[in-house]
Amino acid sequence: MLPLPRPALDARAVYLTCVSVARPASLRTELHQLGDQVANAAAAYEEAATKGELHTLDALQHQPGGKPSRTAKKDEPKGINYHLKTTYTSRMVSAEGKGRPFYNQLLAAAPDGRCTLCGQGLADTLDHQLPKDVYPLLAVTPDNLVPACRTCNTNKRDEAPVTAEEQTLHPYFDTDIDEYIWLVARVTGPGLPAVTFHADPPPSMPPVLAARVRHHFTSLQLARTYGPQAAPELRTLSRSLTRLTPAAISEHLNEKAEDWTEEQPNSWQAALYRALAASSWYVRDFSSGL
Ligand SMILES: [Zn+2]
Repeated sequence: MLPLPRPALDARAVYLTCVSVARPASLRTELHQLGDQVANAAAAYEEAATKGELHTLDALQHQPGGKPSRTAKKDEPKGINYHLKTTYTSRMVSAEGKGRPFYNQLLAAAPDGRCTLCGQGLADTLDHQLPKDVYPLLAVTPDNLVPACRTCNTNKRDEAPVTAEEQTLHPYFDTDIDEYIWLVARVTGPGLPAVTFHADPPPSMPPVLAARVRHHFTSLQLARTYGPQAAPELRTLSRSLTRLTPAAISEHLNEKAEDWTEEQPNSWQAALYRALAASSWYVRDFSSGL
């Protein structure tokens, strides 16, 4: 995960701008009158997210329209929750939407244009940390919208967290996560090396945060994202190392591990080089010209 400063956007102002040209006028008035509820929901969100307790926002679920009825017919008029959800899709994501500048601003904050959830993919979408289908009042709340790649957005799925442990990391609120090294690589060999990635939080990490790190890694399927990216890096590295002495290989791997750990401590690159630097068989095998 890539930590990001919270967006400098006011939730009420964003919402009111988005709905300011809704049609017909009666719908616009109805949506406008929800400004206080949206602002209150955003304030409750901020308080819960600061404590890592987004699972406690049950009271906001399916508000203000209530849970959808299973027996609803297709031709029934759309309820207010539907219009809140389309405030995001039609008035914020849409190129003509009044809220599109906010969408662009949130997306532009992605570091190097990368996904904040996996730290690798291209950030070409915003992900709802709490799904808009369950929390319509938070559909355009800036704190709830994080730059993400499509793979992470799809993998995360639209489920509301039910416990403190079963929450993915939040780029705006879990900003000190990189004080811990929790991503590890395992390189297997000897012979042709292969690498796999695992979430392995250190004992010093608070237990709930450690559980969330594991949940983040598993639910976003980060092992699948990182493995294919690391495999060719490992192959090309292994070929180039055969030209070096064991001491030079050790030095090179340690330097790369340090540089990547400083750059992005829980990236696959940092984890890969840390694992290689600590692997005596790898240094031995590749210096011998395997
Ligand atoms: Zn991603």
